[in-house]
Amino acid sequence: MGYLKQIDIENFKSWRGNQVIGPFMQFNCIIGTNGSGKSNVMDALSFAMGERAASLRVKHLRDLVHGAHVGKPVSDTARVAMRYCDDEDQETVFCRTITGDSSEYRINGVHVTLAKYVEELEKIGIVTKARNCLVFQVKSLKDPKERTKMFELISQSKEYAAEYDRKKEALLKA
Ligand code: ATP
Ligand code: MG
Repeated sequence: MGYLKQIDIENFKSWRGNQVIGPFMQFNCIIGTNGSGKSNVMDALSFAMGERAASLRVKHLRDLVHGAHVGKPVSDTARVAMRYCDDEDQETVFCRTITGDSSEYRINGVHVTLAKYVEELEKIGIVTKARNCLVFQVKSLKDPKERTKMFELISQSKEYAAEYDRKKEALLKA
């Protein structure tokens, strides 16, 4: 199953200049005090997935530029690139840039239409729904065994599996 490796940001919301978030693991947790930018990470991801301004908690796209929330944008452009790795560790970079209120989309540096961009995202199982809600439709999770593997990974319960089986066996024998 593929995963999000890294997010590269330029002048988007809380991030000034070029900044990197990641590298990520298959399961990640964002921790921080109120107003520290946790939701902005999700906004950055949603933005890179083609989300509308209203779902990114701003009125206009230009309000997403660093400093624009206090009327002092540092630039007229902002950019977020999402680095996705597939099972073979092959990287695909989905990048959205805004200039003023217009958007440009690139896949691995090649300029594409929004329709093509969304289509390519859907091919890797990512569907962006309206209102800041990202739905990751991972096809392999339809398989119960794959689903169990995923929950074991998230909960880290795999490391207790052997102990669990041993104790269950002992109980059954008692
Ligand atoms: P909470 O725990 O309350 O949900 P949070 O960690 O999710 O907080 P965010 O909503 O992600 O916080 O971030 C809010 C911060 O983002 C504010 O401090 C605000 O100043 C900053 N911010 C929002 N837009 C911009 C912008 N255009 N430029 C710079 N900073 C911005
Ligand atoms: Mg928040």
